[in-house]
Amino acid sequence: MDAVRMHAASPESTSIVDSVLEYSRRRMLAKDVPLDKPQTPAELNRLVGPTITDAGLGAARALSVFEHILAPACLTTSHPQYLSFIPAAPTMAAVAFDLVVSASGLYGGSWLEGSGAVHAENEVLSFLAAEFGLPETAGGVFVQGGTIGNLSALVAARETAKSQLLAAGRELPDRWKIVCSKEAHSSNKSAAKVMDADVVLVPAGEDGVLRADAVREALIEHGDAVCAVVATGGSTNFGIVDDIAGIAALKDEFDFWLHIDGAYGLTAMLAPATRPLFDGVGRADSVIVDPHKWLYAPFDCCALIYRDPENGRRAHTQHAEYLDTLTDGDDFSPSDYSIQLTRRPRGLPLWFSLATYGIDAYRDSIGATVALTKRIAEEISRRPELTLVRDPQLSVVVFERNGWDRADYDRWSDELLDSQRAFVVPSSHAGRPNTRFAILNPLTTFEDLVGILDTMK
Ligand SMILES: *Cc1c(COP(=O)(O)O)cnc(C)c1O
Repeated sequence: MDAVRMHAASPESTSIVDSVLEYSRRRMLAKDVPLDKPQTPAELNRLVGPTITDAGLGAARALSVFEHILAPACLTTSHPQYLSFIPAAPTMAAVAFDLVVSASGLYGGSWLEGSGAVHAENEVLSFLAAEFGLPETAGGVFVQGGTIGNLSALVAARETAKSQLLAAGRELPDRWKIVCSKEAHSSNKSAAKVMDADVVLVPAGEDGVLRADAVREALIEHGDAVCAVVATGGSTNFGIVDDIAGIAALKDEFDFWLHIDGAYGLTAMLAPATRPLFDGVGRADSVIVDPHKWLYAPFDCCALIYRDPENGRRAHTQHAEYLDTLTDGDDFSPSDYSIQLTRRPRGLPLWFSLATYGIDAYRDSIGATVALTKRIAEEISRRPELTLVRDPQLSVVVFERNGWDRADYDRWSDELLDSQRAFVVPSSHAGRPNTRFAILNPLTTFEDLVGILDTMK
């Protein structure tokens, strides 16, 4: 076997590239991409058979297995009727450009290797930082997702708290504490576990909002042991925004690192109607937002931004002989700002899309999904068989079908997916079953949602 066959340009390579691009093109431009649905392991085993063989199947056969068996066993998370968890809705430009990121051998970890890509990513980060009210010197890195973003920010918070206590000649705590709401995302708890720190779970109000008084009590009780306070800018389950202004104002009384977990919701700062909910974000020490959620970028992409990037750099720069040439200089290298080293410049699809369509198109899209959410919430309130669990603030609406138990929701949800009408899964709050629409695809219509409500009569 020719050793270079897999890498060199050749007629065989041309045909592989052409067939993969042709499939991608068809999939991207299709007008009626199906929702699709999962299969059982046994069914997939039966349908697919062994694909990893000594001689290889060849691209045509492998692509065919993917197109006809594997892909239909994957939910289309960008489908307008995919309304569960947090959907994806990448723009055409962003999806198309994602191919370029893979095609070009781009490395996004260091300035030396990827300066052009890093420059473009940094322009996006600076744009977002300005939207969030952070100073011009703010900066950071695009990481894989909100989980890695929260962990990286909280490690930087801990390292900063540690050096401040040491510099002041104060004792280090036995256990570091991270203060966050009971309704905060699970990834904050998982970050604390990785850091071997404790989480101080502060109760939110009946409305799901974490307020300053509750945080103040925790700060008084735990003092120097608190390395960070996490406020949520749009909870995943309800889209509820904590009282960030009130919590940020505590900085006048206490010295603490404020992290904003805005993985899902911080995007809503770009829309004028929802922007005031986020007053106070400009005082944060770190923020995250997942462009793969509501900023219309493909998976997987989280923007992690530090008020003072030096805090990130001190916490995260890896030192090794083979890296000295990268870390000795003053270059801005994205790898210095998170817990990961090798990285694709995953911010580029968002950069290309923003550069293509402009910011106004984003503001309009985000505002329109918030307006649609309000409208469907009103419709839900009007229906006697439905109860709104909480008034929506952003683009998630949670509601109950009166009289249904969990099994009723399960049956209804399965039927919606079996008929390929929608993907809406059961959820629960305070022990009561419910369901929710997470609406962020601009192609989702009021009529689509009403049609789904009609199936609950
Ligand atoms: C989605 C989400 C996360 C986790 O982000 P991943 O990208 O899934 O790792 C963290 N916090 C909030 C508020 C989220 O909505």
